[in-house]
Amino acid sequence: MWRCVSRSLRIPYSKRSVSNDTVRSHFSRFFSTGSGREYTIVDHTYDAVVVGAGGAGLRAAIGLSEHGFKTACITKLFPTRSHTVAAQGGINAALGNMTEDDWRWHMYDTVKGSDWLGDQDAIQYMCREAPKAVIELENYGLPFSRTEDGKIYQRAFGGQSLDFGKGGQAYRCACAADRTGHALLHTLYGQAMKHNTQFFVEYFALDLLMNSDGSCQGVMALNMEDGTLHRFCAASTILATGGYGRAYFSATSAHTCTGDGNAMVARAGLPLQDLEFVQFHPTGIYGAGCLITEGSRGEGGILRNSEGERFMERYAPTAKDLASRDVVSRSMTMEIREGRGVGPLKDHIYLHLNHLPPEVLKERLPGISETAAIFAGVDVTKEPIPVLPTVHYNMGGIPTNHHGEVVTIRGNDPDSVVPGLMAAGEAACASVHGANRLGANSLLDIVVFGRACANRVAEIHRPGEKLKPLEKDASEKTVAWLDKLRNSNGSLPTSKIRLNMQRVMQNNAAVFRTQETLEEGCQLIDKTLDSFHDVKLKDRSLIWNSDLIETIELENLLINACITMHSAEARKESRGAHAREDFTKRDDKNWMKHTLGYWENEKVRLDYRPVHMNTLDDEIESFLPKARVY
Ligand SMILES: Cc1cc2nc3c(=O)[nH]c(=O)nc-3n(C[C@H](O)[C@H](O)[C@H](O)COP(=O)(O)OP(=O)(O)OC[C@H]3O[C@@H](n4cnc5c(N)ncnc54)[C@H](O)[C@@H]3O)c2cc1C
Repeated sequence: MWRCVSRSLRIPYSKRSVSNDTVRSHFSRFFSTGSGREYTIVDHTYDAVVVGAGGAGLRAAIGLSEHGFKTACITKLFPTRSHTVAAQGGINAALGNMTEDDWRWHMYDTVKGSDWLGDQDAIQYMCREAPKAVIELENYGLPFSRTEDGKIYQRAFGGQSLDFGKGGQAYRCACAADRTGHALLHTLYGQAMKHNTQFFVEYFALDLLMNSDGSCQGVMALNMEDGTLHRFCAASTILATGGYGRAYFSATSAHTCTGDGNAMVARAGLPLQDLEFVQFHPTGIYGAGCLITEGSRGEGGILRNSEGERFMERYAPTAKDLASRDVVSRSMTMEIREGRGVGPLKDHIYLHLNHLPPEVLKERLPGISETAAIFAGVDVTKEPIPVLPTVHYNMGGIPTNHHGEVVTIRGNDPDSVVPGLMAAGEAACASVHGANRLGANSLLDIVVFGRACANRVAEIHRPGEKLKPLEKDASEKTVAWLDKLRNSNGSLPTSKIRLNMQRVMQNNAAVFRTQETLEEGCQLIDKTLDSFHDVKLKDRSLIWNSDLIETIELENLLINACITMHSAEARKESRGAHAREDFTKRDDKNWMKHTLGYWENEKVRLDYRPVHMNTLDDEIESFLPKARVY
């Protein structure tokens, strides 16, 4: 259907963000013999291409540039608009600035938080690297909050303990007031500029360029400004495209969190791991969904029901309001179900900060004080904030090892590396969060594994390595797909299908799940996917076509949503964020394994791979499974 005619070496393009010498390229033209529609394709060659400029993408790009690799960073958003900017609470590391601390205790908390689904080698790596990673951020210029004696201030956060759970609450979360992500992202962007990373801003990555031998050779992207297509060829491709919170109706994540990288991987025939584990943050503002950081409870905030009772004392006698997120979200849901919710409909819970000294609120929680005023009309010094568990984070994603290399099952090898392809950040599943992520472990994950990707590339590649030529039909399918979407002429607007999907996910893959809700969820989400064939776009242009971009994002979300629902239906146990009312216990015998969801002919196929119970070395032994109580 498509034919590629190589035209000339002219580069039809003068970008504000790119200098032309980066484009060692040729200019080709694609046209459809049927429709006559033409697409301009520009080829680029780099040592490495990073997709995403959030914390994970920027940290990877900085490392690659530092190691001398010519690196392109493609991003659909201006880098400092990435969702990382919204992170509030902070970043965990056993710095020991407030009390004695040890990375092994942090590791224990993380393994327990993951409900023993996390890979212990990767968790060891992350927790051991954490103090170095945070000091490195400090050296990059991140304006952390300080203690009286000038050290990085660290607050209490959920699920964090001392001495392997025996020493009480840990103070391990380093922060910049309640705007840590903002500080982190701007600091990393400054470093990336310093290291001359080449940014391709407002370029939308469409698909991976895969070779017939199963290796990855780069990525194809659409320049949203002028509609040109770009093939970025590189020895290493690093996906850092963030999560897919927007598959749900109420989420704390930005509207841009649409799981594009995950969907690209799924379309390439590779699996996505553990998508059934979706984190609900206990304190999204009722109605608006905006986040009120766990740091607010770390600073002394308390949840109360309609009877004024501090109910977390019943559910988690030791950790109380600072139990792990899945535990608090479930407890809140139980209170509401049993008629002790607040408000006229008794359908939410109050978060009290009004007993805290106003100076603490001003100094440590200025951002959420403002958010509560704007989105809930509440003065936090006087009134409680109305809150509800809200979708917040995707534990699952693109499976990787602790170097950031993407893995899949090949033959008898469940850890077979996909050559040329890596992933980091919320898009990836290393898996350091297992079935439930601890607060402030994601900002850590993104910098540690962004850096790990760069280090791994430096171990196995040299700058300027010659690439093999792209296979002839490398991008034909993608162009045909884009063209078909752009010209979709069905009867359903994108927004309608999106709303249907979000409602199904919100209702059927919620905090509590049953076989009935999940089976119905599978049927409904498959039906919603089917309705996508009838999508209608109004805008056919290639210049800033937000209708087209939203439709691609919707298709990407649908792939993530379908795999999430089917993976959840299959898992007949309760573990971490996956809480089933019909299988209330964790079942290590049958279910201590990672789910792999493949996307084949618009259907989900499931498989499983073992959890890594081993550690990296004898600095620590693995933590054997036990009951998870807080
Ligand atoms: C409100 C909120 C508060 C949070 N607070 C904390 C906290 O205090 N501590 C903590 O540890 N974690 C926190 N988290 C979680 C954490 O912030 C995120 O998991 C993390 O920042 C994700 O970083 P990332 O680099 O993986 O992705 P993101 O920051 O989401 O960046 C994704 C990047 O990918 C790019 N991209 C995506 N798709 C495409 C495409 N198709 N083409 C080109 N580019 C693309 C985007 O442009 C963007 O640059 C919070 C999350 C939220 C939503």
